[in-house]
Amino acid sequence: MLPLLRDPATLLPSLAAASQLRALHAHLLVSGCLASPSHHAAFLASLASSSPTHLSYARLILPKCPATLLAHNALLRSLARGPRPHLAFSAFRDLPLPPDHYSLTFLVRAATALATAAAAAARPVSPELGLDARLLAVSAHGAAVGQGHAVDPHVQSGVVSMYAALGDVTAARAAFAEIASPDVVCVTAMVGALAAGGDVDAARDLFDGMPRRDHVAWNAMIAGYVHVGRSREALRLFDEMLKAGAAVGEATLVSVLTACAQMGALERGKWVHWYVRSRGMRVSVTLGTAFVDMYSKCGAVATAMEVFENMSERNVYTWTSAVSGLAMNGMGMECLELFKRMQSAGIQPNGVTFVAVLRGCSMAGLVEEGRACFDSMKCKHGVDPWFEHYGCMVDLYGRAGRLDDAVNFINAMPVQPHEGVWGALLNASRIHNNIELGKYAMDKLVAIESKNDAAHVLLSNIYAESQDWKGVSRTRGVMKAKGVKKVPGWSAIEVDGKVHEFFVGGKSHPRYKEIEMMLAEMIRRLRLHGYAANTKEVLFDIEEEEKEGAISLHSEKLALAFGLIALPEGVEIRIVKNLRVCKDCHDYTKLISKVFNREIVMRDRNRFHHFKNGACSCKDYW
Ligand code: ZN
Ligand code: ZN
Repeated sequence: MLPLLRDPATLLPSLAAASQLRALHAHLLVSGCLASPSHHAAFLASLASSSPTHLSYARLILPKCPATLLAHNALLRSLARGPRPHLAFSAFRDLPLPPDHYSLTFLVRAATALATAAAAAARPVSPELGLDARLLAVSAHGAAVGQGHAVDPHVQSGVVSMYAALGDVTAARAAFAEIASPDVVCVTAMVGALAAGGDVDAARDLFDGMPRRDHVAWNAMIAGYVHVGRSREALRLFDEMLKAGAAVGEATLVSVLTACAQMGALERGKWVHWYVRSRGMRVSVTLGTAFVDMYSKCGAVATAMEVFENMSERNVYTWTSAVSGLAMNGMGMECLELFKRMQSAGIQPNGVTFVAVLRGCSMAGLVEEGRACFDSMKCKHGVDPWFEHYGCMVDLYGRAGRLDDAVNFINAMPVQPHEGVWGALLNASRIHNNIELGKYAMDKLVAIESKNDAAHVLLSNIYAESQDWKGVSRTRGVMKAKGVKKVPGWSAIEVDGKVHEFFVGGKSHPRYKEIEMMLAEMIRRLRLHGYAANTKEVLFDIEEEEKEGAISLHSEKLALAFGLIALPEGVEIRIVKNLRVCKDCHDYTKLISKVFNREIVMRDRNRFHHFKNGACSCKDYW
């Protein structure tokens, strides 16, 4: 007799042909191996999970088998776990018997698998199947309620995971609230749903209350912090995760590297690289891309390119990270070269790639190349330009001093120009001192009444400058009414592997007394070199941070003072800022680099500024 009573699946994969399968089935029937319902169920489950051919065979023979729910549930479970979970729905519909809580648990799992696949493809519809994952999820939940199994703990837990996978935090919360004592899987799913939905504090409360946590919960929490830009908390939690001895995998490290990139925490990023090497972990395309991204965003573009060149597999995200890294660091020619290589390698660029290439062209003054690249987007690559691409084009012309071309370009836009476009024109007008054009751009910005915080702050500053206090309060009123939230500015600096964060006017740093003294010393020495704080030139200064008398305390100045105190002479000071650096801070930093004889690298929202001996690599156009 065949030794496959316990697990016929061990034999099944080798039986590719339907004829062989029929022979095996006949043999099992004759020898009495399928006499008991549980053996029959096991046989069907193995069939269903081994291959699509076997699955169709299972579905063919199922109606002819002894009608046990066990067999049907086995099939449902296999279908839910398999590569085509949507088949569970038709199997459920065809059930000859009333479903039990197992049937519904498997159906909900199938819906979860579809929702996960849809989320991975960033589409509401499950990839390749054309099925609306949300609709199926709701129907699975509805079936559970209708059959009276919605209060079963397994079903309940599954429903929470299902809505979590769909990204529907409200539905997940409602389902979670119904559960008397949720298990670890269920709480983890809820933590994941809350964290992914941006409610990291609620997720953290739940996470802290868990008696035990697996790596899935840690990863969800760390990724949640990174997602909302709270990188420092992400890194702190990662330290706790290491202490707790939870399994650190690729998903964790990708989040940690993203946090390092956000904070410019190069030392921590390097540590992750060491960690991966020392453990002999495989560097997948995702992890490799995260390294390229981290190194380029931390200004270590040579290392980024080294990692990139050594990767055996690269996808569009890998190429885009590398192209973007070169662009951010002002290496326009290299950026274009790499973009050409990307196309030769047969990788189709996406919208993000084009933003990077256009920025690279703009910074290197490659106007014609940038224009050609923009023109190729739609016709050659089938990528519709976003507002950002139009803004890049205006910036490209503007930087080159071709203001007429910039205006003509805006007038020829097939879509209504948005604030980014007018903002770029305003910036160009400021740099090339074209007051008329600047006023024109400003009027357009006012007319749009955009929800953009930077535009509003700029506007409010402009009113303040012309002493139009009614205008100021009107703008503030509009901001409040529209719910425009200003992003608080921060700057980060890494000293001995520890990231120090500074906020505008912040005094909370433990070494604030020293920082304050250093700031006074900096101003004293700068004044000797003729520095005067730039508060007048507001009209053409696109500001993201309010001044309100706190100009000397913009966060990058605090970070700079701390860098001068904490880092030994001759060591480059590296600062990361979340917003665009203002004109005054830029002038100030240039002068500091000369007076204190320090090289300073500052990454603002768009690019790197390398300050050396009184000059900046951006040549004052940013
Ligand atoms: Zn500033
Ligand atoms: Zn600069």
